[in-house]
Amino acid sequence: MSRKPRALVTGGAGFIGSHLCERLVSEGYRVFCLDNLITGSPENVAHLLDRDFEFIEQDAIRPINLSEKMDEVYHLASPASPADFSRLPLEILEAGSLGTKNALVLAQAAGARFLLASTSEVYGDPLVHPQPEDYRGNVNQLGVRGVYDEAKRYAEALTMTYHRHHALDTRIARIFNTYGPRMRPDDGRVIPNFIQQALAGKPLSIYGEGTQTRSFQYVDDLTCGLIRLMKSGESHPVNLGNPQELAVREIAGIIIKLSGSKSDIIYEPLPEDDPRRRCPEISRAREVLGWEPRVPVEVGIKHTIEWFARRASLTGTRKDTGGRKKPHEDSRE
Ligand code: UDP
Repeated sequence: MSRKPRALVTGGAGFIGSHLCERLVSEGYRVFCLDNLITGSPENVAHLLDRDFEFIEQDAIRPINLSEKMDEVYHLASPASPADFSRLPLEILEAGSLGTKNALVLAQAAGARFLLASTSEVYGDPLVHPQPEDYRGNVNQLGVRGVYDEAKRYAEALTMTYHRHHALDTRIARIFNTYGPRMRPDDGRVIPNFIQQALAGKPLSIYGEGTQTRSFQYVDDLTCGLIRLMKSGESHPVNLGNPQELAVREIAGIIIKLSGSKSDIIYEPLPEDDPRRRCPEISRAREVLGWEPRVPVEVGIKHTIEWFARRASLTGTRKDTGGRKKPHEDSRE
């Protein structure tokens, strides 16, 4: 009888990583989750511990030694929220550089396939719209967002180098805005902020005028895309995102409506280098993976509101810590 395939997910206790681990376990993988818990949380994977799942508390920037040989390596480890860009800038640069190198070295030693979780941030504040994979971007490497953007751009270059010079079987997913249950309540991103504000009857904080756009995919659509990409033969970057573009003020309206909230809106300053528009061109994902997002925004937002409401009722009025541990442990996305 053939053995189960084995997958390593770095950053597996984070928001996206934990959903990916869950899906891989249910697809019959033996899953190893490596996370330093800097932004991930043990709660995110607690329900997997009695399955074919192993949790390893370790920073991906340290050499990774596993007792078993992997077939697939998903490298997600890195803080990923704009609020982390100023809080954890060196950790982000190291996760993208040293962390990616360590994950590539492990994949190569095992003869495993490697998938890099890259980002729409490689396009910066894009001058081409929507963004196809061959657009090279408009990144301010000196600004606060530059640590994340450049770390991921470097990670892409390193991944392509291993592909070209070491014949490693690699994939690069450029992940656009993703939302769903297990987003960190205190990560500062627009959807958790707006949902928690709406549920608490507080005003929703729109940065700038709210005319900037994003394209939001539900996390289940993304994990499906990541697994399809890993199984594909595509070594070029592939955008994974929802081409439905919404202005931030439209998102606020949807969340107020679906939560039945009476919250107002307050306007706050726009953060530095905040991209004005972001929308993926996904014809490559459609052609190569047969993939496109399926969960309508209203449906995904409703699930996410329900998750935050359940979480708030479980934690009561306890001051929220978002499940974060001390800085200088790690993980992400
Ligand atoms: N944003 C906002 N209010 C918030 C949080 C974010 O208006 O409370 C805006 C932010 O300025 C950006 C968009 O929402 O234009 C998405 O921000 P997020 O931090 O979720 O992710 P980003 O796409 O910027 O990485």
